[in-house]
Amino acid sequence: MKQMKPPKKPLIFYYGIILVIILLLNSFIFPAIFNHSVKEVDYGTFLTMVEDGKVKQVEIENNTIMFKPKDTSEAKLYKTGSIDDPKLVDRLHEANVKFAKVIPKETSPLLNFILSWILPLLIFIAIGQWLMKKMQNKMMGGGGALSFGKSNAKVYVEAQTGITFKDVAGQDEAKEALQEIVDFLHNPKKYKEIGASIPKGALLVGPPGTGKTLLAKAVAGESKVPFFSMSGSEFVEMFVGMGAARVRDLFKQAQEKAPCIVFIDEIDAIGKSRNSGMPGGNDEREQTLNQLLTEMDGFDADKGVVILAATNRPETLDKALLRPGRFDRRVPVELPDLAGRESILHVHAGKVKLADDVDFNMIARATSGASGADLANIINEAALRAVRLGRNKVMQNDLEESVEVVIAGYQRKNAVISMKDKLTISYHEIGHALVAAKQSHSAPVHKITIIPRTSGALGYTMQVDEHETILMTKEQALDKITTYMGGRAAEEVIFKTITSGASNDIEQATKIARSMVTRFGMSDEFDMMALETVNNPYLGGDTSLMVSAETAAKVDAEILKIIKTCHQKAIRILEDNKDKLHELTKYLLEKETISGEEFMAILAGKQESSVILEK
Ligand code: ADP
Ligand code: MG
Ligand code: ZN
Repeated sequence: MKQMKPPKKPLIFYYGIILVIILLLNSFIFPAIFNHSVKEVDYGTFLTMVEDGKVKQVEIENNTIMFKPKDTSEAKLYKTGSIDDPKLVDRLHEANVKFAKVIPKETSPLLNFILSWILPLLIFIAIGQWLMKKMQNKMMGGGGALSFGKSNAKVYVEAQTGITFKDVAGQDEAKEALQEIVDFLHNPKKYKEIGASIPKGALLVGPPGTGKTLLAKAVAGESKVPFFSMSGSEFVEMFVGMGAARVRDLFKQAQEKAPCIVFIDEIDAIGKSRNSGMPGGNDEREQTLNQLLTEMDGFDADKGVVILAATNRPETLDKALLRPGRFDRRVPVELPDLAGRESILHVHAGKVKLADDVDFNMIARATSGASGADLANIINEAALRAVRLGRNKVMQNDLEESVEVVIAGYQRKNAVISMKDKLTISYHEIGHALVAAKQSHSAPVHKITIIPRTSGALGYTMQVDEHETILMTKEQALDKITTYMGGRAAEEVIFKTITSGASNDIEQATKIARSMVTRFGMSDEFDMMALETVNNPYLGGDTSLMVSAETAAKVDAEILKIIKTCHQKAIRILEDNKDKLHELTKYLLEKETISGEEFMAILAGKQESSVILEK
């Protein structure tokens, strides 16, 4: 739902304008209209006219005398100020003029006030309100932030999601956990008979793009029940109390439609811990959360309302949400493993025409750490590329290229890079690859390229593991750091100078070294002491150090020691293989992209690189 913009000027401003308009009307315009046809004359003229017999009728008011002439050519009505003239009556009588004194009307001042001030004001306010409402409806597309508690006009039902567990590849554990809920919604009697009560709520936790929302829809699709879906942020409204009203409505509707599923996506938007240290807190969010807690306690799970929620920040959720009877069941939806990635690729490739050379296993191996959403994106990018190249089938190299697009962005074909920089980049990348190849615990080199990418990468070396490993040994970790050092080391060995091109390598290497010391217990100094905690494991996983200042300094020293050792090792490897470094670099510079096989062939001396470098 779109947020309503606050009106540019406060309402009171418009009412002020209206008031001024009424004032002007009352004091100038109306009298002017009335007086238009009245001609004012002096008393003398009046008397002369009476004596000349030109006057037909006279009305004497308190301060004025109005009179009608016999000859109406000049004006229909005259007026003059009334003067204390005792002879006036006689004169009029003599001239045979009809005359009368007007009896002053006893209008009550209150009525007068109401008629001339309150009534017009009320009319204008009514018009104003009507306009406001119209405007709002336009902006909000119905409903509206100002329609307090009237959100029940919105029906949250999305009757059939049409998605089943078949559409969710991998995630077998999650599916198994949710299968029970599906079963319950199909056959609640079975559970009631034995006296078991089904959990009221299940919380899907995991990194973004792993299929949490998809799974929730699949549960609804499998159970063939209505699916009430809302995002946590939709509850957080402009006005305190609105969110709570929405929660109430949602649950009211859900109970009417039971059995059904209520799905609250991104629940951390309202479920954040209430003592998160914000001064003053957030009233609206807390009220909404309290209402949610109350509603979850209030309804009878046997009726068949199951609440699913999803978040990638479970650690921020309020403890009250997680206690038994509420979201007591936690379903982890983790990043897919190798087999999971392969089957996700298969699911999404279902509607894509594939060439025979497509090898999803290879793509899955090259995408360790990718989420389901990433993989879906890779398939789509590959299909787009195939179309762009005028093919009607997706080939393996479309897929490989789109993996790189997702990892590093598009190729920057037009980027202008000087020959000197290109040479440096080539040595840098071959440095990585050579160090990786000369160590026994690093993954094989799959591809080396010096074609720059939109992510800012000037080139990269892709390593693809044969098998996926879940555990990382200390040797593997050290080899990884050493490989990261390889790029810079090559620059040092060849050019005796260094460039800024290693910044990302430095960052990654330091991250691994830090984890080794603070979390994996891989340093001699600290043994198995925990020094750091991970704050949000599913979102970037930033950590906070929980040690004294002195220890922190020692931690840094320890990290530095690891990095220095690895750096020296990388330099040594490259010094020992300087010939190969030159040879491979020349080859890469010529080809711009070389495969792992080519690389290994040259390294093993099986292939002569015939390219001669021109400087
Ligand atoms: P989130 O966990 O962030 O809610 P989504 O459920 O929205 O992720 O997933 C985004 C998209 O990624 C889905 O629409 C689907 O195309 C794809 N996807 C993610 N996980 C899977 C999976 N396990 N199987 C098939 N597709 C998946
Ligand atoms: Mg989601
Ligand atoms: Zn590098």
